[in-house]
Parts: sequence; C-alpha cells; structure tokens
Amino acid sequence: MRVNFAPSLLEQVVDEVIHKKADEGDTTLLSLFADLTEQAYSPAFASLKEEIFKYAYEYIGSKLELRKQVKEAAYKFPLLQVKVDEIILKPPEGKSEGADIVTVNDKQFIIVVEMRPRSLTMRNTFETFLPHEFLRAQDMIDPDFKYLRVSLDHLNSAEENIIRSRYGTIWDIYIDKRLDKFSNKEEHLERIGRNFSVSGENSEKILLFINNTPKLTHSKIFGYASAPASLMKEAKVSSNPSTYPGSNCSICAFPSFTFAEIKDPDLFEIIKSEKGDLNPESGICPRCVEYYQIKLGRF
Ligand SMILES: [Zn+2]
Repeated sequence: MRVNFAPSLLEQVVDEVIHKKADEGDTTLLSLFADLTEQAYSPAFASLKEEIFKYAYEYIGSKLELRKQVKEAAYKFPLLQVKVDEIILKPPEGKSEGADIVTVNDKQFIIVVEMRPRSLTMRNTFETFLPHEFLRAQDMIDPDFKYLRVSLDHLNSAEENIIRSRYGTIWDIYIDKRLDKFSNKEEHLERIGRNFSVSGENSEKILLFINNTPKLTHSKIFGYASAPASLMKEAKVSSNPSTYPGSNCSICAFPSFTFAEIKDPDLFEIIKSEKGDLNPESGICPRCVEYYQIKLGRF
C-alpha cells in the first residue's frame, strides 16, 4: 500500500509543523529546512529551485513520519490491507473533509482522503479522523455492505440535501459505534434531531436503535434516509409516521417532505367525503390540500 500526499497538502502541513515548533522554541526543523533549501537561492541552481523545495518538503515529511502514521492507521482495517493499492491525501475541494474510493478494478481500490493541513498536524487525527474515514472506505469496498452510488437527480436540491444529510448521520453513527466512539453521543443526538425532526426521548431511541443494530448495509441506511417512517417504526419512536418527511401522502400516494395540518373542518369534510377513511392524523401533502381548497372556493 502506497501513501501519497498532494504536494500542496504536504507543503502546508510541513510549514505548519515547522512554524508551530519554532513558536514553541524548537527551531530544529526550521534550521533543517533552511539548510535543505539554501542552495535554491544560488543563481547556479535557479533552474532547480522547485525541485530543491520539493525534496525539502518530502524529506521533512518523512522525518515527521506522516506516511507511516497514515499507513498504520489504515492497517487496522483488514479489507484495506488486502484491497487498497494507494491512499492519496489532498486538500478538500469543497468545504468538507472525508474519504472516497476510486475503483481501479473489481479487486483493487484507491482511497482519496480530503483533509485540511491543520487537521493533519493534530495528534488526534490518527486516532479519530483517519480511522473514521478508513472505516467508511472499508464499508464502501465491503461486499457485505453493498455500497452503491445513488443518483438523486430526480429530486429537488432541498430533498436531495436532506436525504444525503440523513444518510451521512446514520452512517457516521454506525461507524463510530464500531470504533467504540460513544463519546460523540451529544453530537449524534444533535444530528438526529436536526435531520429527523425529533427531540428528547425520540432522538435517544433512534440513536439506541442504530447502536444496537449489529449490521447495517447501504440499502438499509438509504431506506431509512429516504423514508424515515421505517426508521421511526423500527426504533419505536412515538410520533405520527404518516406525516413524517418522505412518507407518502394519504391522498395522492406520492412521497412528500412536508404535510399540511388540516384545521379547517370544511376542508376536512370535503376531503373525507371524497376519500372516505381519512382521519385527522393522516398525512396530506400541500399540493392535495391546495387542490381541495380550490374545490372549496377558498382561493
Ligand atoms: Zn398528495
């Protein structure tokens, strides 16, 4: 398994460490870097300037044992040992840090970890961030997890964001649980509350349910994310699942992310007269409500 840093990431990490140590009074690395790059400023070596700096960053990076620490973190995951050819670390392209998998062929993979230089200089990166991302990567190549890249192009961006966010929440909790990182409980509860519109005891029930489920697969997690009513039911959450975001409207049967509360008795009566077995708890989407309001002449 090879570990490679994007040059820009390595440079920033090395710079950061050198200056942090110098600020703390240890100028060994700063002097070493100055020695290694001294000749880059001589006119005779002007054409080699870039190479000289590259070598200096590589050399100090190896003294900091960055590659070794990344490799050691990855070797804790048996599937990665066997199936991953290369780990590439680079600065994030978007806002967030995380790992993704590039498929070389059916049997070999490359892990691309996007992370900020600051994160790499923090000691706990190798004990928390990287193991978390490596377990995510292992899930992605684990045949039992059955990971699939799902296209959500048919949804509007708000719907897509909420499904991705719910998916990420459940997957992160499932990862932390297998790493025995139960100390993230408060963060987990907050994310459950925000993404599943629940609070208090109901958030706890969902967290407990995920933590107590021995094995999750991609399709299970995706199912919970796109139709949370199934998660609510399995986690025994006391709420009204028929008005849960992503549940089907009881009139048109299309999934809806919002449901209207029908307080107007006339409206309820006209819907009931046409639809029969409807109760006030039934989830009715805003489009259907609008349709009946027009029928009632309310617009
Ligand atoms: Zn509807």
